[in-house]
Amino acid sequence: MSQLPLSDRALAFAQALVRMNTISDRSNLELIGFARDHLASLGVKSRLTWNAERTKANLFATLGEGKPAGVIVSGHTDTVPWEGQAWTVDPLSAIVQDGPEGLSLFGRGSADMKSFIAIALANAERILAGNAPFAVHFAFSYEEEIGCFGVRELIADMRDAGVRPLACIVGEPTSMVPAIAHKGVWRYRCCVRGKEAHSSLTPHSVNAIEMAARVVGKVRDMAEAFEREEPRYDGFDVPFSTASVGQFHGGIADNVVPRDAEFRYEFRDLPTADARAMQQQVVDYARGLEPGMQRVAPDAGFRFETICEIPSFLGGRDDPVTRLAQRLAGEAGTTLVAFGTEAGLFKNAGIPTVVCGPGSIQQAHQPDEYVTLAQLARCEAFMHGLADSAEIG
Ligand SMILES: [Zn+2]
Repeated sequence: MSQLPLSDRALAFAQALVRMNTISDRSNLELIGFARDHLASLGVKSRLTWNAERTKANLFATLGEGKPAGVIVSGHTDTVPWEGQAWTVDPLSAIVQDGPEGLSLFGRGSADMKSFIAIALANAERILAGNAPFAVHFAFSYEEEIGCFGVRELIADMRDAGVRPLACIVGEPTSMVPAIAHKGVWRYRCCVRGKEAHSSLTPHSVNAIEMAARVVGKVRDMAEAFEREEPRYDGFDVPFSTASVGQFHGGIADNVVPRDAEFRYEFRDLPTADARAMQQQVVDYARGLEPGMQRVAPDAGFRFETICEIPSFLGGRDDPVTRLAQRLAGEAGTTLVAFGTEAGLFKNAGIPTVVCGPGSIQQAHQPDEYVTLAQLARCEAFMHGLADSAEIG
């Protein structure tokens, strides 16, 4: 456990980042500009990759250019919103005050996960001066919270640039305990087109709600089958895959057979399960209903849209990057987490990955989100250790 105090610069950077409003549907360019300018002042060049509108960017920078490929320090720059939540402090205040667990930094993104990015940036100079024989890459992404969209561009660009990192540390809040697995999050929208009619003339109609309900029933049946039959994966709160319908809309009046209905559903698949096959089962089931619908109305049927596909993540207890994180964090164990992260995307790109960062997911997305200064000090000690680490492992 680190006894190091938190540096003034790390805290100041964390406060500066929390004060920038970067909820996912807003631009993150203020934060990216801050990071790029700071790195540029140290002679480090940044690669930016943009969204289509050029309102948001990812930043990728290599500290220790010329050293062999190294370790990615990864964080997302966006946050969830706070509208409708009962905050007792201004979510953008970045106020430091006593909290439930001692002196803490309060504000949206303080735990999830601007502080991690801030501590990395604040220690860039330290990393550049460090003895580690490998490079350290900063990878800061946009739009993680709404589906891990930005990081896909970043990973593709990294590959195009010929950068071949050996390991990745995703600094999501795990209370500095290395996490080696999480479930995936796969969300879809199903739009059902039927045929409307006066409700006294049902044989001439296709009831979109009723057809949607059959597919909803299929999702429910699958969820029950996961619970009944899937091999258990111990360590997760729910040790099997789950499926659930989150929204359902349809209908305009009691005496009109509805033409349109729409619902949204998700799978949270175990690292050992196959979410694409799950979605295919739903699509196949819906396609099986279409011939009957189309006998009444040729254009009736189902349309599926992907909302997000965040793959599950499965690292390894014995992966060098896991051992590295354990050593730097001063933790002997590992954990699993219940939330989705970018880790699966890095892992699927062939980069051994671990999730380890300051703060608790209990505070993430909550009103009065905070991270303790003690956690931030541990994270800073972690960065110092990385800067001087003789090896990855
Ligand atoms: Zn996060």
